[in-house]
Amino acid sequence: MIARNSTVAVQVGGVQIGGGAPIVVQSMTNTDTADVSATVRQVLALAQAGSELVRITVNNEAAAAAVPRIREQLHAKGCTVPLIGDFHFNGHKLLEKYPDCAAALDKYRINPGNVGRGSKRDPQFAQMIEFACRYEKPVRIGVNWGSLDQAVLARLLDDNAKRPQPEPLDAVVREAVITSALESAAKAMELGLPKNRIVISCKLSRVQDLIAVYQSLAARCDHALHLGLTEAGMGSKGIVASTAALAVLLQQGIGDTIRISLTPEPTDNDRTREVIVAQEILQTMGLRTFLPLVTACPGCGRTTSTYFQQLAQDIQSYLRQQMPEWKKRYPGVEGLQVAVMGCVVNGPGESKHSHIGISLPGTGEEPVAPVYEDGVKTVTLKGERIAEEFQALVERYVERRYGRPG
Ligand code: SF4
Repeated sequence: MIARNSTVAVQVGGVQIGGGAPIVVQSMTNTDTADVSATVRQVLALAQAGSELVRITVNNEAAAAAVPRIREQLHAKGCTVPLIGDFHFNGHKLLEKYPDCAAALDKYRINPGNVGRGSKRDPQFAQMIEFACRYEKPVRIGVNWGSLDQAVLARLLDDNAKRPQPEPLDAVVREAVITSALESAAKAMELGLPKNRIVISCKLSRVQDLIAVYQSLAARCDHALHLGLTEAGMGSKGIVASTAALAVLLQQGIGDTIRISLTPEPTDNDRTREVIVAQEILQTMGLRTFLPLVTACPGCGRTTSTYFQQLAQDIQSYLRQQMPEWKKRYPGVEGLQVAVMGCVVNGPGESKHSHIGISLPGTGEEPVAPVYEDGVKTVTLKGERIAEEFQALVERYVERRYGRPG
């Protein structure tokens, strides 16, 4: 296992970030927080999908007033996922006026660039930290280059201009992002917030910028780090950009919690996608194991049917749906590997490397589907019900391998 850079453990509700803990998956709702039932529904869906922390925006009084009710309703439904409040500009006022909100949240996100303009910045930041101290909550100092603290940037630009060989603007901006985070964290500690209640993030939207900033940040501090590419985008672009950036950093031991910021499709507001992508990044890198994954071949001219693609998709959805129950009944089942292959060229070989695998018949091949369990061919399926029969075999395999005796 790759050692994490951060040695400081931050406790957020029942979840530990940093200090050698497994990398935590988090997500954010996009409901109006004041709409309690819609927000509860989405938090539940995110938690059910595997989000270990969920952030909600607390942008106005109605949202702040809703937070304790959201927490209560989640508890009533047996959901204890820690809630993080995302504050900008008016956080100090909302936490003051809504103490139940301050108490119900498990962490406060503070953006040093959006805490208050000009002379208001320092006292309002200090107020936010005082609330964190009073309610014994951790904070994330979450810098975003889109809302970078302009005072810090102006200072660094001035310093840069005085250099005999000034750095390019991009480099100064990157340095300003890091400086804003580190100076804010230092200020929070001066105000009495211990280091083990501070997480830092420095989000940018360009992959190479993000990598450079986090590498520098990790070399300059041992704070727990929240990792994410901001404004990653839609669909495959968002997934690829996030994965490209995060994989490099995670491989270097940088990052203790991750969020994948995907823009939902206009026709599909399923927020659980960002949780699934985060889990798949960590699992495919061998950093964590969340659920059984299906290995499937891409298909080629040897199989003109979409049958195996459908089977691969159905089996993956089935495994994901079973996990909440299976996790309780079958310890270790998240490590199960299943293969669904399009023909017998690579099918049996890949099946043998998995716990259980099936090779469907390719074009012109005999209409039979050999199944391998633990490297041994156990049965050959044929006929119309191959999918159902294979699913039943997977179930039986899980029971046999992971079921508790007796
Ligand atoms: S396993 Fe068969 S169908 Fe799948 S990519 Fe390989 S040759 Fe093509």
